[in-house]
Amino acid sequence: MLQNTLFSLKMSLTSSQILSKGNSAKFIELIQRYNKGELVYPGVLIRKLGISQTQAYKVLDMLKEQGILEINYEVYCHECSQFKGPIYETFGKIPEELDCECCGVKLDPLNNSIVIYKMIAD
Ligand SMILES: [Zn+2]
Repeated sequence: MLQNTLFSLKMSLTSSQILSKGNSAKFIELIQRYNKGELVYPGVLIRKLGISQTQAYKVLDMLKEQGILEINYEVYCHECSQFKGPIYETFGKIPEELDCECCGVKLDPLNNSIVIYKMIAD
C-alpha cells in the first residue's frame, strides 16, 4: 500500500473511532500486508483483532469509500459450510440457478452469498 494511502487511512481510522487505538494499529499492520487483487475476509479481521462483526464491516466500508477496497461476493453453503467459488464482482453476476458442489443443495444468491472485499489500492 502506498505511503499516502496509508497515511489517509490512519487519519480516517482515528477520526472515525470505530476501533480502539490499539486495534487501529493492529488493523493497519494487517491491511497493509494485502497485495492488490487479494481478497479480504471480514472473518479474518474479527478473529485477529477480536472485534465485532459490525466494527469489521464499518471499517471495511470506510476503506471501500476511500477506494482501497471493493465489494465482491462469495457463495456460501449453510448446509455443509463449504465455500464454493468463484468470486463474483457484482451481486447480479451470481447465477440464479446454483447447486452446492459439495452437498447438492440448491443455493439462492440472496441467502447464500457473503460480502467479501478485494484490495484494489496499489
Ligand atoms: Zn453444501
